[in-house]
Amino acid sequence: MTGTAMQKQQQQLPTLMKGLTLDQFVTGQDKEEAPYKLKHDLKVPSCSADEVVIHIAVAAVCHTDGMVVRGEFEHMMRSGLPLIPSHEPTGIVAAIGERAAKNFADSPGAGGAGPLKIGDRVGSLAFKDFCGECEDCKAGKPRYCENQDMCGVTANGGLAEYMAADYRSVVRLPDEVSFEAAAPLFCAGATIFAAIRACDLKAGQRIAIVGAGALGHLGVQFAKCLGLHTIVVDARDAPLELCKDLKYPPDEILNAKDVDVKRPETVKKAIESIGGHADAVVLATDTIPACEFSLELTKKHGLFMVVGQPNLPIPVPFHHLVFRDVTIKGSLLGDPADVSEMLKVIADKGIEVKTKSYPLEKIHDLLTDYSKPGHAGKLVVRVSDHQ
Ligand SMILES: [Zn+2]
Ligand SMILES: [Zn+2]
Repeated sequence: MTGTAMQKQQQQLPTLMKGLTLDQFVTGQDKEEAPYKLKHDLKVPSCSADEVVIHIAVAAVCHTDGMVVRGEFEHMMRSGLPLIPSHEPTGIVAAIGERAAKNFADSPGAGGAGPLKIGDRVGSLAFKDFCGECEDCKAGKPRYCENQDMCGVTANGGLAEYMAADYRSVVRLPDEVSFEAAAPLFCAGATIFAAIRACDLKAGQRIAIVGAGALGHLGVQFAKCLGLHTIVVDARDAPLELCKDLKYPPDEILNAKDVDVKRPETVKKAIESIGGHADAVVLATDTIPACEFSLELTKKHGLFMVVGQPNLPIPVPFHHLVFRDVTIKGSLLGDPADVSEMLKVIADKGIEVKTKSYPLEKIHDLLTDYSKPGHAGKLVVRVSDHQ
């Protein structure tokens, strides 16, 4: 790229912006306190060589944001609070760093559509400033790099008008996918898509997704589109109802509210009601009874894939490992190649991403709704009106 062309890549950014910040961790009895403050005088991030500054359209809120609020990632933060939350940002490109301009076209997030341009519609995974030198970075799995930041978790995220993303985490969005639909894909979608792929099942095999929430309702549709016999399990009515009405509904729905793992007859009856065990069970929730039932539901020689993050250890009776040869594995988010592939599946098949949108000013209404057990789909924040 010539010098003049390069300069054209730098739009004039404003100096100040509106956004939310977490100024102090909220733990224990101050739980009821509103965790985020709305500010109008935040500094717009500058754009370093590896960065792409995104003018945020929509950013989503997830379970991990609650963990950030409680200080569960404090030990990994390099510069402490205040922090702009959300690791699920989407928007349009407002500035492009030098190396980002040079290298993006060859990265998996480009989707083969050439260099990044100002105004392109994009989203970003959380990973940022990874070292590029450790074994995981060299193996193309920077998400496991221990020397990096995560936007919205240890560095500033998407709940403000502008965010600086690492170009190696940026993914171009297909025109068919709206910002509302795209935002949840950069954590919830990527997580469940990569986890289902990692189960390595063949068409016709049985997969159960335990937890029909934000991850679960996407997982059901991905699994169906991959040709798997798909079972969804939850103990709440509302998210199961939502799954029933999806464009790609599950083959079996199990409401597990009467299942008690201490009473084996209830487990047996539940598994029989869906035609037997599953070759792989993906745990997309964080309650311990759900973990225990997931292990029971996993077929002999099958795979129990964990993506939920329970705050207590998962109890694993040895007979599942020794006598039933169950494998237990975890899966962490996904990389830009997974996200590009997932976006293609979503655009081609018309997979539905159920969302409810709130303006930045109503973040605390969003958090109140999030804490209600009946909420279904993914809650997102409209930051600006880009479409
Ligand atoms: Zn590394
Ligand atoms: Zn998340």
